Amino acid sequence: MDRGRGASRGRATAGRGAATAAPEWLIERGLDRSSLVAVHTGDCWDPGKRQMPATREQARDAIRQQVPACSKCRPDTRLGLLE
Ligand SMILES: [Zn+2]
Repeated sequence: MDRGRGASRGRATAGRGAATAAPEWLIERGLDRSSLVAVHTGDCWDPGKRQMPATREQARDAIRQQVPACSKCRPDTRLGLLE
């Protein structure tokens, strides 16, 4: 189902030296790619199959928009949303 798409990503990876480390946050998407299933920390051991790297702002926004925080890695705690 994903065939034919994907050409638009990865174009920024041509150069070297700008490589970033593993993403700090991950957002797990649903099958339809528009829905968000869960928010994870970048080092979650169970981030799902369709996660995409996210910035701290994106992760926090997702949680604020009712995207569930992963119960295993607790990104909401790490983001400081549960004080
Ligand atoms: Zn997680």
